[in-house]
Amino acid sequence: MKNLQRIRGVVATVVLFFAGNLGFAQNPPQTAGGATGRALTDYAPVLPSTLDRAWAIVPEKGVETREVADGVFVVTDGVWQSAFAVTDEGVVVFDAPETYASRIRTEIAAVTSDPITTLVYTHAHNDHIGGSAVFADVEGLEIVALTGVAEFLGEMNDPDRLRPTKTFDDQLVLDQAGMRIELRAANYHSDEGDVIVYIPRARFLMAIDTLAPGYGPFMGFDITSNFHEYLHVFDVLLEYDFDVFVGGHLTHIGNRAEVEVAQEFTRDVYETVKRIHGETDLMAVFAETAEQIGGFDNKYLLFDRFLDVVTARATAVLMRANGGQLGKITSLLESGTIRPVMDRVFPFKATNEALAYVETGRATGKVVVRVR
Ligand SMILES: [Zn+2]
Repeated sequence: MKNLQRIRGVVATVVLFFAGNLGFAQNPPQTAGGATGRALTDYAPVLPSTLDRAWAIVPEKGVETREVADGVFVVTDGVWQSAFAVTDEGVVVFDAPETYASRIRTEIAAVTSDPITTLVYTHAHNDHIGGSAVFADVEGLEIVALTGVAEFLGEMNDPDRLRPTKTFDDQLVLDQAGMRIELRAANYHSDEGDVIVYIPRARFLMAIDTLAPGYGPFMGFDITSNFHEYLHVFDVLLEYDFDVFVGGHLTHIGNRAEVEVAQEFTRDVYETVKRIHGETDLMAVFAETAEQIGGFDNKYLLFDRFLDVVTARATAVLMRANGGQLGKITSLLESGTIRPVMDRVFPFKATNEALAYVETGRATGKVVVRVR
């Protein structure tokens, strides 16, 4: 049950989402499974299959750069990710993370002597564009951002983040002679707006701070304050024709199937928590808690308790449907107990049956649980 704490954290976020819809207390309740008293060994480990895909970073260089599609390069320091495209009309850079922005120009120079013409900001957050000042001396550099991002940066007046020179509200196409780059506004993560980058010719899609392939969503669905838009962004992403997906974080990039898995996971958590939230009797939890604390005066505490109860119930249900069983299947796969010879295919919802089938010992080959 090592996944329990992680799932509790994720569920607590969705519980807050529904609590928000109740129009209830404004103070952020303590989420269940807070860090205090939790043993480090209780945390879910990173899957070996995820670790296997990590791009090796040469320490002296600090970053790894790979051409992931024709003319399109991804740069990462193992935690942040950015990109650049080499076009017939110069180099277009996407983001400038503060941790390694100074390396980006060296990495570009290693593959082309063409000038840098454009810098695109995916959103305003410092960790993704806080190194943009390293491009300050690039002559005639066009810096493209959403209007909301430009306004925010104007207010911040931060010397580390160069001010945009070109803004847009909904869509913008950079037609770079032979390479069409489509920019589209979204609202799934940052309060000032997000930009989805799509390069059709390269089948390349970049949506920073949406998901990290091979991992669960970061700290409450990528710390979104707009959960409706977060749910919606997967549909938007899957409208595109792409093979390469860049989410902006961690050790490797992803693909279409991983966007689909993240969507399914997010929907599953959402639907489960929504149902449990509806089924849990608010007044009954209040009454029970009031009895223990001697009255109804501390309403924040009463409400905290309600969220904790919903979180615990939803976590228990999700663990039954997903985490425990999938973890078990993973270990069966990794220990070689299940061999890659097709025996039976089970739909995702029949994970329990799949496990039961494996445990009968009658399986003659690989038992597959179809995620999609
Ligand atoms: Zn961000």
